[in-house]
Amino acid sequence: MKPDIIDEQNLYRIMEEAENSSEDAAYAILEKARAKEALGLDEIGALLNCDSPGFRDALFNAASEIKNEIYGERLVFFAPLYVSNFCVNDCAYCNFHSRNGDLKRKRLTLLELEAQTEILIAMGHKRLLLEFGEDPARNGIDYVVSVIEKIYSIKKAQGNIRRVNVNIAASEREDYRKLKQAGIGTYQLFQETYHRLTYEKLHRGPKADYDRQITAYSRAFEAGIDDVGLGVLFGLYDWKFEVLALVAHARYLDKTFGVGPHTISVPRFCHAQTVNYQPEYRVSDEDFLKLIAILRLAVPYTGMILSTRESPQIRKTAFKIGISQASANSAASCGGYGKPNNEEAQFELHDQRPLYEVVSGAVDDKLLPSFCTACYRRGRTGESFMAFSKAGEIHNFCRPNGIFAFAEYLEDFARNGIYDKGYALIHFYINKIEDEDTRRRTLARLEEIRQGKRDLYF
Ligand code: SAM
Ligand code: SF4
Repeated sequence: MKPDIIDEQNLYRIMEEAENSSEDAAYAILEKARAKEALGLDEIGALLNCDSPGFRDALFNAASEIKNEIYGERLVFFAPLYVSNFCVNDCAYCNFHSRNGDLKRKRLTLLELEAQTEILIAMGHKRLLLEFGEDPARNGIDYVVSVIEKIYSIKKAQGNIRRVNVNIAASEREDYRKLKQAGIGTYQLFQETYHRLTYEKLHRGPKADYDRQITAYSRAFEAGIDDVGLGVLFGLYDWKFEVLALVAHARYLDKTFGVGPHTISVPRFCHAQTVNYQPEYRVSDEDFLKLIAILRLAVPYTGMILSTRESPQIRKTAFKIGISQASANSAASCGGYGKPNNEEAQFELHDQRPLYEVVSGAVDDKLLPSFCTACYRRGRTGESFMAFSKAGEIHNFCRPNGIFAFAEYLEDFARNGIYDKGYALIHFYINKIEDEDTRRRTLARLEEIRQGKRDLYF
C-alpha cells in the first residue's frame, strides 16, 4: 500500500483554488501568521499565489519579524564534509551519478578524514554535515559509524567538532539505530521532489523508489533519531507544489511522531560538470526568496538551512527573512578542503568566501554568527527541543549560548578586524537580555572565555 503522506490531488486543488483568492485575503493571512497562529495549507496556497510587489514587501517584513521573535539574531554556521562519492544511483541532476566514468571515485580513509576535519576545525567550525553517495558495499553503515566516531574523537588545541549531522541515503531502522548510537545530530535526507512521476523519471537505482525515500524519515524516528531534516531540490518540479508538499510532510511527522522536522533545507539546482539535465521548473531568485519567507511563516519553529549553492547577495536577504543555519566556505568534493580548486565536485557553488568573510558580513548585518551546539549536548532534541522552542525559551538559552560560542570563535579565529566589531555586537545583544540574573551570568561566563575557558553553555 502506498504511504499516505502526500495527497497530490489535494495539493492541486489548493493550488487551483488559490488562483481565485484575493490580495486582501493574503494580507489577512499574514496578520494571522504574525499572531503566530498556525496556517492551513489552503492559506499557504493563497500566499504562494499572491504576486504584487507591495505584498512581497509585507510578506518579507512578516517573515523577518517571525524569524527574529523565534530565532532571534543568531545565524548558525556549519560545513559539509564529503566523505565518499561512490554511488550506485543515477540521479539526473548529480555529478556523482553512477554513469560518470570520468569521476575519480573515492572514499576517505580515516587518516584523510582526520586531515579534512583538522582543516575545518582550524577554520573555526564546530558542526559538520557528512555527505555520502549510496553504495552499501563501500559506504555501508558500519563505515558511516566509524567516520562519525572518528570525527568526535579528534580534539585539537583549537577545538573539536561537537555536532555531526549526516546526509545518507534512505536506510533501514537497524541502520538508523546505529547512527543514533554513534551520536548523530540531525539526520538529513532530501525528498528531492514530492511529485511522484517526476521523482520516478529523474532517478535510477535504489533511490528511484519514491516510497522508500518518503518513509525513511518515519523509520529514522522509529529508530530513535528525533532530529530529522527535510528538503526539496528546487528546479525539478513546480515550486508551489513542493512548498505545499514540504509543509504537508512536516505536519504528517508532527502528527505521527509528536515532533516536526528539526530543519528544512532549500537547495536549488546548480550546474554540474557531467550533467546535461536542464531543470524544467527553474526557480527565479525572486520566487526563491518568496518561498523561503512563506516557509518561515508556515513552519515557524523549524530551522531552515541555506547552502553555498546560493550567491552572497541571495544569502544576505535569505538570512533576514527566514534562514537560521548556513554552510560557509564549503567544498563539494570528496577530500576537497585544502585543495586549490574544487574539481570533481558534486555541483558548482556560488559563495566561495572564506568563513571569516561570511562571519564578518553577518556581523555587519547585526546577525550573531553562532557555532553553538548546546541544545544537542544538553539533550534538548526532538520533542524536548520543540517544547522548549515553542515556549519561546530559545531566547533565554540561545542568546547567551550563541554569544559564548561566538566569543570562542573571536578568541580563537578572529581575523581582519572582526574581533572588535564582533565583541561590540556581543555587548549589543547582552544589553538586550531582559532577565538581570541571566545578563550577569552571561557577562561572567564571557569573561571566563576571554581568560581561556572553552565550551561553556547554559
Ligand atoms: N547521496 C545522498 C542522497 O542523495 O540523499 C546524500 C546527499 S547528496 C551528497 C546531497 C544532496 O545534493 C542531494 O540530496 C541533492 O538534493 C543535492 N544535489 C545533487 N545534485 C545537485 C545539483 N546539481 N545542484 C544542487 N544540488 C544538488
Ligand atoms: Fe548519488 Fe546522492 Fe548524487 Fe543521487 S544525489 S547520484 S544518490 S550522491
